[in-house]
Amino acid sequence: MKANLERCSLLQALPSKGFRLTSQRRALIEIIQEADDHLDAASLLRAARQRKADINRSTVYRTLELLKRLGLIDELDLMHLEGEKHYYEARPRRDHLHLACYKCGAIMEYTTRTLERLKDEIARHNQFQVGVIRLEVGGWCKQCRPRSGTTRGSSMAPGCGVH
Ligand SMILES: [Zn+2]
Ligand SMILES: [Zn+2]
Repeated sequence: MKANLERCSLLQALPSKGFRLTSQRRALIEIIQEADDHLDAASLLRAARQRKADINRSTVYRTLELLKRLGLIDELDLMHLEGEKHYYEARPRRDHLHLACYKCGAIMEYTTRTLERLKDEIARHNQFQVGVIRLEVGGWCKQCRPRSGTTRGSSMAPGCGVH
């Protein structure tokens, strides 16, 4: 599930950066923007086709590349729970981290001030201007967590950037 975060308006951003909003691009963008879940390219293509029958695979991939390059969407691997799939989301105005359940595959978003503090710390200690931070946490959700003991898993991944 996606948290209710304020996200970039891709429909406005694309033309404002000088790119034409073709009806195919619009269909795809609306789906990314409205999705309740993090969708992979194949699901995006399927959903876009329902809206706009003539959209093809390469248009979808090219548009995703473009949006990514412009920093309007983030590409996530979500702990590779489902192999090499990549997922896309409109970049929220606040960085967030993703919690991925190994068992049921649930993806949860989490925002915390600690993440902002971590960015500050990184910036200070490295004299590095942080553009985006991606943090992904693998584990077990409330429904799936083991009763006793804890296991852990972690790796780098998604979050969202602020412009
Ligand atoms: Zn779960
Ligand atoms: Zn997200």
